[in-house]
Amino acid sequence: MNKAKILIVEDDSAISNLIATTLETQGYQYHVAKTGVAALLEAASYSPDVVILDLGLPDMDGVDIIKKVRGWSNLPIIVVSARNEDSDKVSALDAGADDYLTKPFSVDELLARLRVALRRVRYDSQKLKEESSVYMNGDLKIDYAAGCVYVGDKEIHLTPIEYKLLCLLAKNTGKVLTHNYILKEVWGNALASDTPSLRVFMATLRKKIEPVPSEPKYIQTHIGVGYRMLRV
Ligand code: CA
Repeated sequence: MNKAKILIVEDDSAISNLIATTLETQGYQYHVAKTGVAALLEAASYSPDVVILDLGLPDMDGVDIIKKVRGWSNLPIIVVSARNEDSDKVSALDAGADDYLTKPFSVDELLARLRVALRRVRYDSQKLKEESSVYMNGDLKIDYAAGCVYVGDKEIHLTPIEYKLLCLLAKNTGKVLTHNYILKEVWGNALASDTPSLRVFMATLRKKIEPVPSEPKYIQTHIGVGYRMLRV
């Protein structure tokens, strides 16, 4: 029995009913909010484990809701957008959303994204308990104190940039990080013109940590958006 609490923020009844039915069959609990104001109230009072947020609401822009929630909470937010443009997804992710789905989406896709988000919650709370200085994910291990990276028993030699990049993705496991965000965090600036060099560093990093660099299992590419470290 899955007891996670999900807040569905969606003004379109057909879509919120579809999501609600899907969640119900999987044993999730949920509340539905149809406006931005209701969403902010529910986010605080219902204390959901994950928010599924429609970007186009009648009273507020979804991106503003993300910014407000991020002012006090790190809870996972999965954005659902009818708008196909990457710029909407990117501004939602830059505002602090974890992930995105584009309408129309499949029920399986929604459930998969939800599992990723819930794993992040569990991992975050476990991490708080352990205050660990070692990151473990499958065969990948980062010893933050020593600044060493291992795949299995083998130590991997990374350049300082590759190491920063890997630590940033690891720290945000489960979350889609935009090109802008990564450039800002790793290089201290975010020029769109730097995205190609980010791609180059990502390729060399993958060659070192991925068993099959052409089919990455740790670092997922989101074309036109960014990258995400998956918990394997
Ligand atoms: Ca809508």
